Amino acid sequence: MKAIAVEPGAGEPTLVERPRPEPTAGEALVRTLRVGVDGTDHEVIAGHHGDVPAGEDELVLGHEAVGVVEDANGTDLEEGQYVVPTVRRRPGGVGNEYFERGEPDMAPGGEYVERGIAGAHGFMAEYVTSPAEYLVPIPDDLAALGFLVEPVSISEKAIEHAVATRSAFEWEPESALVLGNGSLGLLTLAMFEETLEIDRTYCLGRRDRPDPTIEMIEELGATYVDSRQTSVPEIPEAHEGIDLIYEATGYPKHAFETVDALAPNGVGVLLGVPEPWEFEVDGGRLHREMVLHNKALVGTVNSHRGHFEAAIDTLSQLPEWFADDLVTGVYGLEEFESAFETGDDVVKTAVEFDAI
Ligand code: NAP
Ligand code: BGC
Ligand code: ZN
Repeated sequence: MKAIAVEPGAGEPTLVERPRPEPTAGEALVRTLRVGVDGTDHEVIAGHHGDVPAGEDELVLGHEAVGVVEDANGTDLEEGQYVVPTVRRRPGGVGNEYFERGEPDMAPGGEYVERGIAGAHGFMAEYVTSPAEYLVPIPDDLAALGFLVEPVSISEKAIEHAVATRSAFEWEPESALVLGNGSLGLLTLAMFEETLEIDRTYCLGRRDRPDPTIEMIEELGATYVDSRQTSVPEIPEAHEGIDLIYEATGYPKHAFETVDALAPNGVGVLLGVPEPWEFEVDGGRLHREMVLHNKALVGTVNSHRGHFEAAIDTLSQLPEWFADDLVTGVYGLEEFESAFETGDDVVKTAVEFDAI
């Protein structure tokens, strides 16, 4: 079967031949339909994040997938059912308490592998196998957009954790800011607008108009903030102090600048996975600011099955125009390279392994 693999840090993704996997007991065989590409894939390709499976040279990419059950292999799944796989797996098939609790997203390094990212081959292959417990059924009418479930699940978790930090007191966020107008940022902005119904939303980028992402931001009813004109710490003066900030730029200064942009009692949730970078910060002032104004910062990674189920519900509520504008390209295997191209007119792309 055909698969898309990369030698991280040493070149571009290529089409390779691999044996079709055989499901073992408890696993189902899935025919892959579509697999999305995100900023993490580019970081993996560049060799900045993740790793190949032990003892191998290349990694099959892809962690945002939708497929159809080809062989249920005695599991509870049904053949012909559309499914979305979760990303983390037990390393070496050996369980640990995080997996046993259904919270693999909280496992520390060394206690998980991530398919298509770290230590395990991904879903960019014509067929994949997975334990049935990691295959989340999705309604037929959402299958074409099923590759968006994984990124939305990331934000389901992030928002859950952010809100949990504020659960000890009366907190009703009226304003939210997304840092970053990439696919993760835009999906999250749509969630803030459409499902959380936050009164005032903002999204930060660094693009000139006309730009498709700025058009989407404004069509959602949010305010575009250009970081070249208004830096993150200047946002309270230019607009307002923000109750909930979601960082999805991967730009490390934003992690600290978030503290200044928060309203008293606000929370910032950090998603970016940057490279090491040393710079100066006024640690004393940030420390004081967080304490005297009851601010919180929380980092979050990955998501578990419950977040995938919530994401399926969220996806069904997002307006059709939004998904149409977000997905700028779905490419067949004969032109899969296009799915990895970047540029201001590219928002979200996917590789199509088989027609839906
Ligand atoms: P992406 O497509 O690279 O999006 C990042 C966006 O941030 C880009 O649109 C970029 O603008 C913008 N940006 C970067 N620096 C900026 C600055 N200084 N001012 C204004 N805008 C800036 O990546 P993505 O797929 O949306 O993911 C976003 C981040 O989240 C990445 O770091 C990724 O690794 C991380 N991530 C984390 C998790 C997790 O579980 N924690 C999950 C998924 C992704 P331009 O396009 O104009 O350059
Ligand atoms: C994926 C997550 C993963 C994270 C860190 C993200 O792009 O969506 O599932 O945990 O990268 O590797
Ligand atoms: Zn991702």
